[in-house]
Amino acid sequence: MNFLNIDGSDEQQQAIKDLTKEFEVSTEKLRSIVRQFIVEMSKGLERHGATVAMIPSFVTGRPTGTETGKYLAIDLGGTNLRVCQVALVGNGEVEIQQQKYTVPEPLKVGEMRNLCDFITDCTDAFLTEIGTDSSRETLHLGFTFSFPVNLTSIDRGNLIQWTKGFSCSGAIGTDPALMLQDSFRRKNMKVNVAAIVNDTVGTLMAHAYRDPNTFMGIIFGTGTNAACFEKMEKITKGNSGPTNANEMVVNMEWGAFDEERRVLPVTKYDNKLDRESIKPRIHVYEKMISGMYLGEIVRNMALGLVDRSLLFNGLSSGDFNTQWSFETAYMSNIEEDTTPNLSETQHVLESVLGIPDTTLADRQITKTLCRLVGLRAARLSAAGVAAVVSHCDLLKRDSSTAAVDGSVFAFYPNFSQNMMQALKELFGEDVDKKIKFSRSHDGSGLGAAVIAMQVSK
Ligand code: ADP
Ligand code: MG
Repeated sequence: MNFLNIDGSDEQQQAIKDLTKEFEVSTEKLRSIVRQFIVEMSKGLERHGATVAMIPSFVTGRPTGTETGKYLAIDLGGTNLRVCQVALVGNGEVEIQQQKYTVPEPLKVGEMRNLCDFITDCTDAFLTEIGTDSSRETLHLGFTFSFPVNLTSIDRGNLIQWTKGFSCSGAIGTDPALMLQDSFRRKNMKVNVAAIVNDTVGTLMAHAYRDPNTFMGIIFGTGTNAACFEKMEKITKGNSGPTNANEMVVNMEWGAFDEERRVLPVTKYDNKLDRESIKPRIHVYEKMISGMYLGEIVRNMALGLVDRSLLFNGLSSGDFNTQWSFETAYMSNIEEDTTPNLSETQHVLESVLGIPDTTLADRQITKTLCRLVGLRAARLSAAGVAAVVSHCDLLKRDSSTAAVDGSVFAFYPNFSQNMMQALKELFGEDVDKKIKFSRSHDGSGLGAAVIAMQVSK
């Protein structure tokens, strides 16, 4: 790996060398991760309760882009709650009206019933605002609920567990669609919760409305997860619905990959983050990849250097000592900083985080830590994509597109290039002619609406 030189002491240079080694994911390591990934995917398809759950989505058809009609979509499970009205107008074209709402922290950990009432209140306010009457004809809704749910049909299922900072009571083991439907009923709103949609499945379907080569939907946002098409004959664990279809979208729940810690190169900085997270031991892969966590890994590494007096002259700040204070977005700012004095990095460290008087070496070290963590995240992400590419034999096809959503993919410098580089190491230089990454802007809106349309037609 080629990193910027650090104008620091021998100890500082050595510390960075050691960290570089610890965070490097070699091609060989990638291969072993991909092998394990394929094994875990097979387990998930064969039996319930596997680590990579491979949950059937009950979404079977592919859209053609010619469908029309108005549908509602709600997205819960990201930073914001989003309510959308989607008008499919044919030719792969759509018109979307939407509103975002902040879910108050207490509602994320309170009672599920209250959370559902909040969602219906927001929907009511939104419909009033755009002038749609929810007391007359039934509105069909695609409910993007981005948590692991065991579906029993397209609109029924049980929540397996919470992730991403949510942990409402009275929800695990119950049906989120039914609870939301009850809430709409209490408010006398004619909204039909037509489908429970995982955001990855929505991302895939939104892109498929325009591009028939779409094989996968991936999220690199607060969390990470993916969905892919799977042949029905390979989903052998049963309870996966209609067998007349020959393929179904499967929600992989890949964030849980390698919770057994067999192959992932987990460091002590990852372990510290994990120990202090609200759900320790689970979702190791996600914790090495997604936006909620990357900044915190960098903060842990930096504090390790502070403790050895190798960074910031051994001093931290109240802010920098606070968990989650180093946001993943700062990593993007710092990685983009090409000023000779790293003045953007200085701004983040000094003005935003209150660290007094950083040296150029401090800023160079911080930038290197960001690179190590960002590059590792992209390469580990590529391992998951490579597993799907191998498992589904996609290199036999001319062209396949992975639809990707999420701020980490959209904004983190070189994230997709670093993923592609890893794929090239695994499959050869030509792989970029066959496998493409494409931004899918609106899985949870358009995608969920497309699915609601498929169900209600
Ligand atoms: P969500 O996954 O919640 O639907 P996003 O896709 O916007 O929403 O992802 C939010 C996550 O992306 C947050 O964890 C945040 O830290 C991270 N993030 C936001 N902006 C950036 C950025 N510029 N670079 C890298 N990560 C970012
Ligand atoms: Mg999202």
